[in-house]
Amino acid sequence: METTAALNLRKSANANSKVVLTIPRGSLLSPLQRATNGWYKVKYKSRTGWVSHKFVVTLEQAPSQKFDVHRGHNRTNRVILTYDDCPLNLKGYKSVLDYAAGRNIGLVIAPTGNCLKKFKKKYGVDIAEMARAKGQWIISHTATHPDMRALSCAAGAKELTRGGIATNVGRPPYGAINDNVRCAFKKAHMSIWTWTRTTRDMDVKSKKITISRAAAAGRGETVLMHMHWYGFSPNSIAQIRDRLGKKKVNLCRAYRGADGHGAIKKTPLNLPKSLPC
Ligand SMILES: [Zn+2]
Repeated sequence: METTAALNLRKSANANSKVVLTIPRGSLLSPLQRATNGWYKVKYKSRTGWVSHKFVVTLEQAPSQKFDVHRGHNRTNRVILTYDDCPLNLKGYKSVLDYAAGRNIGLVIAPTGNCLKKFKKKYGVDIAEMARAKGQWIISHTATHPDMRALSCAAGAKELTRGGIATNVGRPPYGAINDNVRCAFKKAHMSIWTWTRTTRDMDVKSKKITISRAAAAGRGETVLMHMHWYGFSPNSIAQIRDRLGKKKVNLCRAYRGADGHGAIKKTPLNLPKSLPC
């Protein structure tokens, strides 16, 4: 759950008890227990205490529930924008990373291995490393973008791990999943993360429609877009952010370490079970 206001952590489950500390607005908490009056017992910065349920919003899905491939590694109320495949050019790619980092937005980027190779060859840069250094998350989208359903388990696993993305999360091309694909992910020690909402940016080829579809997301959603279409620009992200903001829906934040404080940090290769959005 997430705090919706600066919130007092108290010794016991009532508003008159002693304040242990004040938890800032937008903090993520995992409830340990619930009192009959609705208050939650939580741990924050190694201190345990109680918070009023009136200033928190709970997640649609508790972390203890079964892993959901659509919601993947975002168990928070924040919306995560995800971008697949390959950017058109290095300049545009960099401008998105700089914008996201500057506005404290954390994106999930799923480039193919072929894409990484292309940019390495053309510009001598590793675009996955570049994104991670700006507090953005990178997941595998296979080396060559096949429909993995037609591949054997072993061939699918190889597709996921080839191409330089040594991570624990991947997105199968086209979101196509069958037993072969599930087996391949297992073999590659990866979890599957698809999406809860697709903009179909590649079909509509319209900036306006892409933005409005992304901005239709509700809390906790994973939005699919592509790096070579119109959702992938500072201006598109700015518009999505503003429109979500009007509904009091926030975007995932850039990585600042597990506690979400301080300067932007390089994201780990392996994604935590729930991103510190
Ligand atoms: Zn793709």
